[in-house]
Amino acid sequence: MKTLYLIKFIDHVQLGHLYEHIFLMQLGTWLRQKGLYAYLDFSTEGSTYYSGAVYVTVRLYSPEAARIEDQIRTFIPKLDKPAIENGLLQISAEKVSKVSEQDDDVILSKLSEYQSQPWHDMDSFPVRDTSQIPKNIVGLRLSKVSDRKVLYAHQQIILDSTTAADVRESTLPLFYVLSKVLYANLIEILAIQCGYYSLKDSYNYTSKKISETNTYIVYDKHTLETEVDVTRQFIQTSILNGLTNKIIHFLQNVTLKTPANSPDDGGILDRTGIAIGSKGWQQIATSENIKRVLEGMTIEYKIGKYTDSIHLKDVIKLGITSIEH
Ligand SMILES: [Zn+2]
Repeated sequence: MKTLYLIKFIDHVQLGHLYEHIFLMQLGTWLRQKGLYAYLDFSTEGSTYYSGAVYVTVRLYSPEAARIEDQIRTFIPKLDKPAIENGLLQISAEKVSKVSEQDDDVILSKLSEYQSQPWHDMDSFPVRDTSQIPKNIVGLRLSKVSDRKVLYAHQQIILDSTTAADVRESTLPLFYVLSKVLYANLIEILAIQCGYYSLKDSYNYTSKKISETNTYIVYDKHTLETEVDVTRQFIQTSILNGLTNKIIHFLQNVTLKTPANSPDDGGILDRTGIAIGSKGWQQIATSENIKRVLEGMTIEYKIGKYTDSIHLKDVIKLGITSIEH
């Protein structure tokens, strides 16, 4: 595993924060276009500091992801109106301080300025006193955000009860991982396509229902239809592009000596009652088991009084080829 820890200096905290969100959103899309997936190949994290700096952490779990480390350092997101709008939605959801209105051109020119500065790698970075950076912390009101109506919505990835009751020790851990993979990638895709911001997610396991539930917000212009289409499209394309084989490979090579290269075993034990180690993953991560669990999954969306759902078995044409163990 490789970790990139990058820093950029900013003179406007809100706009630096906006740049951080736009950068990470688009980086995720770009990585997926390269056949890499959140949870399996990479994870990202960002923070903006009032002292005048943006930190970005990119963890690269698989060798394929680690190979493009240098390209990540120089990745340039597209700065346009939709990118700004979606970034603003995310920032407003984090409830950072309110600031004053500014038009898109002003925002864009500042973001371009940050774009043109390179990221510094903390591994080779010397030292800098950020109090020397003149800062504009409260000068800008991003009121387009606070003025716009947002809606609370829910996404649930549910395992049907018949599948859940069948061979629990393989079904439950596999559902945990599969739902986390879908969730981790869908939140990033939906953030760009639908203007979406995830507030919290939780894995629920009761005798009645097993689900991964995600609460999020969207702009009010948003429709459920887009969400369902985007989800359906992601599942179809990624399965066709070998996502299932990638999951099998990931689980077959789990090593708990390197925690980042394994699913969260404590979380799985806590939520499903199943303790599973590397050998267990090798036994259960077969194409047949994964196909069975995927086909028992439904993704349900709910915004206000509207609901819609996708049965994975209807959208997946599982192109799973048998793998060599
Ligand atoms: Zn943020």
